[in-house]
Amino acid sequence: MSPAFPVPLKPVIQPPPMVEEVLSGDERAALKARIKTLMKQQDAVLVAHYYTSADLQDLAEETGGCVSDSLEMARFGHAHPAKTLIVAGVKFMGETAKILNPEKRVVMPDLAADCSLDLACPADEFAAFCDAHPDRLSVVYANTSAAVKARADWVVTSGIAAKIVKHLHRQGHKLLWAPDRHLGDYVRRISGADMILWQGSCVVHEAFKAEALKKLRAEHPNAAVLVHPESPASVIALADVVGSTTQLIDAVRTLPHPEFIVATDNGIFHKMHAAAPGKILIEAPTAGEGATCVSCAHCPWMAMNGLRKLAAVLEKGGNEIHIEESIRARARLSIQKMLDFAADEKAGRIQLGD
Ligand code: SF4
Repeated sequence: MSPAFPVPLKPVIQPPPMVEEVLSGDERAALKARIKTLMKQQDAVLVAHYYTSADLQDLAEETGGCVSDSLEMARFGHAHPAKTLIVAGVKFMGETAKILNPEKRVVMPDLAADCSLDLACPADEFAAFCDAHPDRLSVVYANTSAAVKARADWVVTSGIAAKIVKHLHRQGHKLLWAPDRHLGDYVRRISGADMILWQGSCVVHEAFKAEALKKLRAEHPNAAVLVHPESPASVIALADVVGSTTQLIDAVRTLPHPEFIVATDNGIFHKMHAAAPGKILIEAPTAGEGATCVSCAHCPWMAMNGLRKLAAVLEKGGNEIHIEESIRARARLSIQKMLDFAADEKAGRIQLGD
């Protein structure tokens, strides 16, 4: 369904240069030993996103933390008794952890680790968008600031977005969606909901190319194509599985295919290899005709996280997430609706049918 009026296309957010941490074996071992000691002293647990470095993912698992998607990172941090949560990921993930855990100290290796979706949706512009459409409920993706979440009626993750939108559509609601236009378009197509879409995009997923993917798929007839729904519709149309990061890892583990072409950040390959050793993983193409790849299947903000910065934060302090209490409390309500919906759906109290 087309919007009542066009939402202006957001300017493409320029990502920072890609700077990945390079460590020798001795440096890595020394840093990990130092960090482990500091974490014990400070009663800290590390939660890391699938897109962060293999070093951070390994450290999280070696120290009793978790490697997951943004929602599970926050849930894990909430359930864990540690007084300090270290969030290796991007800023909205640290904020989500703080929203759910106000009593805990939440720190990040680099507070400048941002996200093109979050940056494309400033809170004042989003509030004006909502004010212009008082007859619509607003649904925002988790990749937004605490202030945007506080203004929204609902917060969703990619794993549950379609279910919640379908549910709201069946209740007769018309919707506003922000900030990812590709995920919003995907959810609109499968739910049939009346949605006006904000025009943000992820610099990593926006770069996947359908024509080059078709050629790659023809070269690998035994491969399943896995696509994250932040990708363009032409790429999603080629997918055998469309899903969140956790759902794509499950697909690698459970599908019988020997090969997978994966259209999401290549940081996820570390967990996919661990989940399904022996299966062949191939990056979906970001090059080829019409290529504008600036991130080339890896998020430059995620790459800002590293062991050196993590050690420095634990040694010197700083990099703590703070959120004004009135914003935090309102954002919590929007997130809580999603958590309650997920629990109700799991318990069979909400039936979505097809
Ligand atoms: S991969 Fe895309 S959506 Fe994820 S943090 Fe980076 S810019 Fe944001």
